[in-house]
Amino acid sequence: MGTEEVTARSADIVVIGAGLAAASAIETLRDEGYAGPLTLVGKEPELPYERPQLSKEFLAGAKEFKLCHDDAWYAEKDVTVLTETTATAIDLANGTVALSTGDELPFGRLLLATGATPKTPPIPGIENAMTLRTVDDARRLKDAVRPGTRVATIGGGWIGLEVAASVTALGGQAVVIEAAKQPLLGVLGPVLGKYVADLHTSHGVEMHTETTVEAIEPGAVRTSAGVIPADIVLVAVGAAPATELAAAAGLEVGDGIVVDARLRTSDPRVFAAGDVALAKHTVLGPLRVEHWDNAIKQGRLAAGSMLGKDGVYDWQPYFFTDQFEFSMEYVGHSSPEDEALLRGDTEGNEFIAYWQRGATVTAGMNVGIWDVNDKLRELVGTDAAPDQLTANP
Ligand code: FAD
Repeated sequence: MGTEEVTARSADIVVIGAGLAAASAIETLRDEGYAGPLTLVGKEPELPYERPQLSKEFLAGAKEFKLCHDDAWYAEKDVTVLTETTATAIDLANGTVALSTGDELPFGRLLLATGATPKTPPIPGIENAMTLRTVDDARRLKDAVRPGTRVATIGGGWIGLEVAASVTALGGQAVVIEAAKQPLLGVLGPVLGKYVADLHTSHGVEMHTETTVEAIEPGAVRTSAGVIPADIVLVAVGAAPATELAAAAGLEVGDGIVVDARLRTSDPRVFAAGDVALAKHTVLGPLRVEHWDNAIKQGRLAAGSMLGKDGVYDWQPYFFTDQFEFSMEYVGHSSPEDEALLRGDTEGNEFIAYWQRGATVTAGMNVGIWDVNDKLRELVGTDAAPDQLTANP
C-alpha cells in the first residue's frame, strides 16, 4: 500500500446506522469542515428519519413521517449513502467494515450509531405480536387499526402510552397491560404515575395495571388477571442497544457500547453515539439514554471528537411526549424514590413538576407550559427549598 493510499484511507469516515445520531454527526462533520470521504451505511430503505412521530402524529394519521435530510442534501454534502445495507462485521486490525452486499469498506474513523431494537420477552405466542421501531412497523400498525379494533399494548411506558393515545384517535379501543402498579412508575414516580393513568382512563383507554402477561393467543392476551380480548398485540417493554457488531469486533460492550465522555470506544478510531452508546456522563456517570435530543447532541459530540475537537458529555437528559392533553418536556434524571412536587393546575394539564433527592433538584417537567424548560434545566443539580419550588409566581 502506497503512502497516498494510506492517507486517503485514514481520512475515510464511515458511519454505521442511518438514524438520527448518524444524521446529526454527518451534518456536524461537514459543518466543521471535514471534506474527506464520508459513507453512511443503513439497514432500512429510508434515509435517516425522525422516530418520535411514529407513535404519535404518523400513527394517528395526522402527519407524514419526516426525514432528517432529503436526498439532495446528502448529494450536496457529498455523502455516499448505502441504504438497505447491513454492516455485518468490523475488522479492527485491517480497518474495514464488511457489508451485506459482499463489499468491504475501509475506514480511518468509524462511528457506530446502530440504535436499539425492541425487546421481545420469551412469552408464548410472542411471534404474533407487533413491535414499533421503524416507519414500516408504524405503517403496518396504522393500517391494521379500524374503528373498534382492540389494540393491546404490553407495557405502559412512553411508547405504549403514546400508541394508546394514537389508537384512540384512530377510533380503536386501546388496552394497556402493565406489570407495575401504575404506568411510567419507574420514570415519573407514583404522583405522576397516577396522573397519567387517570388521563388515559378518562379517554377510554382500558388500563390493566399489576397485570403480567402469560401468553399471547389468537384474539386474546392471557394474563395474571384473566383473558383480555385483543385483535392486535403490540409489545412495548423497552429496547435493547444494538451492540452485536461492536461486541463481535472485540470492542468493550455492556448495556450499550462503552464510550468515554468524548464518545470514544476502547479503540481510538471508533466512536459511538445515540441509543446504542453507554457513555460516561461527566456528572451522572455511565449513562445510556434513548431520547431524540440525546441522539442529536451525541451525534454532534461524536463528530467533534472524531475531528479532534474538545467537548464532553455533560448535558442533562431531555425528552418530550404527547399523549392526549399530556404534552410535556422533561429535563434531568430523577429516580422513582425522589419526591415529586407539583406547581400549577394538574386538572387543566398545565403544571410544572420537580423531583428532589434531599434538597437537590434531580429533574423538572413542564406540562402544557412552554418556554420554561431552560429555566428548569438551570435548576437541575442545584439545592432548593420545596416551598420555593411549589410557590406560584
Ligand atoms: P436509531 O434511530 O434507532 O437508528 C439506528 C439505525 O441503525 C436504524 O435504522 C437501524 O436499522 C440501523 N442499524 C442497526 N444496526 C445496523 C447495521 N449493522 N448496519 C446498518 N444499519 C444498522 N424520543 C424522545 O425524546 N421523545 C419521543 O417522543 C420519542 N418517541 C419515540 C417514538 C418511537 C416509536 C421510537 C421508536 C422512539 C422514540 N424516541 C423518542 C426515541 C428516539 O427516536 C431515539 O432516541 C432516536 O431515534 C435514537 O436515534 P439513533 O440514531 O441512536 O438510533
